[in-house]
Amino acid sequence: MSDTTPPGWRNWSRLEKARPARVVTPTDADEVGVIVREVAERGGTLKVTGTGHSFTPIAVPEDVLLRPEGLSGVVGIDREAMTATVRAGTPLHELNAELTRAGLSLHNMGDIDRQTVSGATSTGTHGTGGVAASLAMQLSALELVTGDGSVLRASRTENADVFAVARVGLGALGVLTELTFDVEPLGVLEAHERTMPWDEALASYDEILAANHHADLYWFPHTDVVQVKTNNRLDAEPSVAEPLGRVRRFVDDELLANGAFGVVNAVGNRAPRLVPPLARLSAGLLSERRYSDVPHRVFTAPRRVVFREMEYAVPREAGMAALREARALVEKEGWRISFPVEIRYAPADDIALSTASARDSVYLAFHVNRRTDHTAYFRGVERVMREHDGRPHWGKLHTRTAADLAPAYPRWDEFQAVRDRLDPRRVFVNAHLRTILGP
Ligand SMILES: Cc1cc2nc3c(=O)[nH]c(=O)nc-3n(C[C@H](O)[C@H](O)[C@H](O)COP(=O)(O)OP(=O)(O)OC[C@H]3O[C@@H](n4cnc5c(N)ncnc54)[C@H](O)[C@@H]3O)c2cc1C
Repeated sequence: MSDTTPPGWRNWSRLEKARPARVVTPTDADEVGVIVREVAERGGTLKVTGTGHSFTPIAVPEDVLLRPEGLSGVVGIDREAMTATVRAGTPLHELNAELTRAGLSLHNMGDIDRQTVSGATSTGTHGTGGVAASLAMQLSALELVTGDGSVLRASRTENADVFAVARVGLGALGVLTELTFDVEPLGVLEAHERTMPWDEALASYDEILAANHHADLYWFPHTDVVQVKTNNRLDAEPSVAEPLGRVRRFVDDELLANGAFGVVNAVGNRAPRLVPPLARLSAGLLSERRYSDVPHRVFTAPRRVVFREMEYAVPREAGMAALREARALVEKEGWRISFPVEIRYAPADDIALSTASARDSVYLAFHVNRRTDHTAYFRGVERVMREHDGRPHWGKLHTRTAADLAPAYPRWDEFQAVRDRLDPRRVFVNAHLRTILGP
């Protein structure tokens, strides 16, 4: 284990910075246990970070920072049970690479693969559609070092009460050291991207969901254009996949989605009045494309333009109304928004503090460039989301507190009871967790 006096820490969006008193990089659960006991005995706090991709201060270390790098790598694959066990600090892209080599795959993923498996599951990171939209819902077991330094395993059959809440544990229940994911045979996903007029896309949203395994929509503010991306499982071997050629991938994903988009944002920052015409120009350039590939290469893409994001889950039935109201507000307020609004769907799940807990959900995600002040836009839209009983993504910006989050989650007390049991001395807290979960 390495134990150092730290350089500073900052998150991906550069909104949060910290100078922890000490940085530790343990290499197994026993070492984690020793550190937790030390910190608990002197009344300190310990924060595990992933890769810092949360926009909220949820990962900010205030005393001891436990870095994930010493707890990385795939532990084993069980082909009979169809599971893969990984150490908790493993980045998702490493898990994907290992699974692909083994002819296996996760069921669903979000838009990027840079996060750690533990960071991503802990905040409810999700993709869209499928039978499980979040990474946490693909877990079948976990190992956790709790507030007294002891190691606890949980699954649907072992410590089931802990498993019910700790898959989306917000980093508040202990240090995850190992996660076991359900996996499936490596298949092929066919992606189809095209644009639709706003009215048609919103009117046919239910049909789009019913007809496709995964659907991801992007509305371009200041336009009537909605980009619809659907991904469907082909009944075929990976060898039949027709991925985008290297040149097309470079042009689409690097030059247009990151390079040109970065330029559009830079111009918009200097001259906000140009945002609407630039948005119309960019939306007009979107072309239809189809390709197929192994799932993680279809789900994820690089994101190089640094942005800020708020995302809310509203009940599925309220999704399109909430989106319409958000658009009306943007137009009424005259905000100039250069990032598309992303629209995704998750089936109801059974995790206490998952944003899709016990209800089918539509996710609406709002972004701005990191040099744009997000406060008025996010606050305004947040009011709309709250009117629709929205639940904020735990890793993305919001202004909610424990007092108003508790009524949004029917199983709130169940989470708190496990928290009191596993971390009675509140070793795993920071100011943000006290705000959103209470003392
Ligand atoms: C460019 C970008 C794209 C994104 N795309 C999506 C998306 O498509 N879908 C989506 O839902 N979200 C998305 N997110 C949000 C992101 O997935 C979450 O914020 C996620 O939590 C980040 O993982 P991380 O490894 O960076 O964890 P961090 O942000 O570093 O930590 C998050 C929380 O996990 C806790 N934690 C980390 N490791 C452990 C551990 N071993 N034990 C206990 N607790 C732990 C931390 O203490 C903290 O509370 C995106 C974010 C960015 C910046």
